[in-house]
Amino acid sequence: MLRNDVEFKKSLQDGRRVFYEGAAVSDVTKHEILKIAINHASDLFKWQNQKQYSSLLVRPDNEYGNISAFYAVPKTTGDLKERFDVIYETTRLGRGMFNIVKAIGSDAMFALMIVSRIIDNEFKTNYSERINKFYRDTVQNDLALSVAQTDVKGNRVLRPSEQPDKDMYVRIVERRDDGIVVNGAKAHTTQSVASNMIIAIPTRNMTEADKDYAVAFAVPPNAKGVSLISRPMKASESAIKDPSLVIGNNNAENETLTIFDHVFIPWEHVFMAGEWKYAGLLASMFPTYHRFTAIAYRAAMGDLYLGLGKLIAEHNGTSETSNIRRNIVNLMTYKETLRLAGIGAAEYAEMDTQTGIYVPNRVYTNVGKLFANQNYLDSVKNLVDIAGGLASTLPHSSDLNNPEERELLLKYLSGAIVNKTEERIRLISTVREIISSYGALFTSAMLHAEGSIEASTIELYRSYDYSESKKLALFASGVVDKL
Ligand SMILES: Cc1cc2nc3c(=O)[nH]c(=O)nc-3n(C[C@H](O)[C@H](O)[C@H](O)COP(=O)(O)OP(=O)(O)OC[C@H]3O[C@@H](n4cnc5c(N)ncnc54)[C@H](O)[C@@H]3O)c2cc1C
Repeated sequence: MLRNDVEFKKSLQDGRRVFYEGAAVSDVTKHEILKIAINHASDLFKWQNQKQYSSLLVRPDNEYGNISAFYAVPKTTGDLKERFDVIYETTRLGRGMFNIVKAIGSDAMFALMIVSRIIDNEFKTNYSERINKFYRDTVQNDLALSVAQTDVKGNRVLRPSEQPDKDMYVRIVERRDDGIVVNGAKAHTTQSVASNMIIAIPTRNMTEADKDYAVAFAVPPNAKGVSLISRPMKASESAIKDPSLVIGNNNAENETLTIFDHVFIPWEHVFMAGEWKYAGLLASMFPTYHRFTAIAYRAAMGDLYLGLGKLIAEHNGTSETSNIRRNIVNLMTYKETLRLAGIGAAEYAEMDTQTGIYVPNRVYTNVGKLFANQNYLDSVKNLVDIAGGLASTLPHSSDLNNPEERELLLKYLSGAIVNKTEERIRLISTVREIISSYGALFTSAMLHAEGSIEASTIELYRSYDYSESKKLALFASGVVDKL
């Protein structure tokens, strides 16, 4: 049953333990800053009930009736292409800000459906039955999900079991007849405050000594022992003082340090409990889906930067100069390379033979993600180069509202297009928002979120099939005489 935005927000008023800048938050939907992240998430629930977006966001399902498009399990390459479009278009509707609360959870559920079957085959466990039931509950109740994969990790070069403090990775501390008890913390959990369930999965491969850390489960954010410590949302803190900052006032996501202090998880929500041999497979299967999601939302962000760059260049009268044309084509290349990677990853997806679920092509997904990691700051450089110094020195929007200053600003901040100075000011102000109040978040998120540069590098280096290239090298060197 598809929910609406009001029902979604109400479901978050459940006594979850949240902290923001040193204070406990009694209701995330009413908190001055956090409510911006909640409202952003609620847009997905609002849009799916609006006629103009239903073909994008709703899918008919034989078993469950109308379901969220995010939760449609990809059973063809075409399904993956549609998934790419759903993420791309919802990011555009969110003014270039990703809206994660259904995308990331489905990425994790698809990965768990595939990996649980492999574990069940070897160990005669019933994890696939459990994840399928969890999927059914999620779809039928139209839940919002967050995913806590990244552990706090302590000393990065030590394995979980080698850490001096054993809680640096989330682990099982007790096994009971009715479930397990977990302890530890995960970092950077996006929109946990706006989710109905948190899915936790391992962040790396494990050895036998790490088997208590090979754990995957789902838990409601209001479960006893769960604490969510928010990061400061500086973009929204700035925006509430400046109504002209439309993105920060409407479209923001939140991250928490997510602490599990001896949290009880009933067996029905446990999807891995000690099968250490498969922790690495799950830790890499989820990012394959999630990086496919990433290239879709990053392409939409690229679309925003391209639109800003082109319009500001037109306002500045520079859009036909060779240097600015180069900047604009660089922005276009960033966006379109990501779209190409997404189309390639969907077209050359592989079917998991046991479940019939399609997995995005790992090479194209990771090449796209690595390209996004490595070129994001260059795309910002191109945009700032086009916009000029006003992207930092533009007066505040309240100056424009002061009659004493208004005429002066409209006269002296005009560009090549007559009578559209306010539009020019708003566009440049958005560039300033991207590089200033959103600057810290985007700089770090575009380098690290969905895995660092090294994560995609490792995945590509080890999973790439070099055989064709090697054959060609041997052929071209005369070592063999045919390809
Ligand atoms: C905005 C944002 C949102 C995020 N959302 C989520 C989320 O919803 N859920 C989630 O689970 N995670 C989330 N992440 C986490 C993201 O996946 C991680 O930031 C990323 O995997 C890097 O991990 P880290 O931040 O712990 O950095 P670190 O692991 O500390 O890495 C820092 C640097 O050290 C390098 N490094 C680390 N260990 C080693 C080693 N052993 N050898 C060599 N080099 C090493 C890395 O390659 C990197 O360059 C989010 C991150 C951001 C920034």
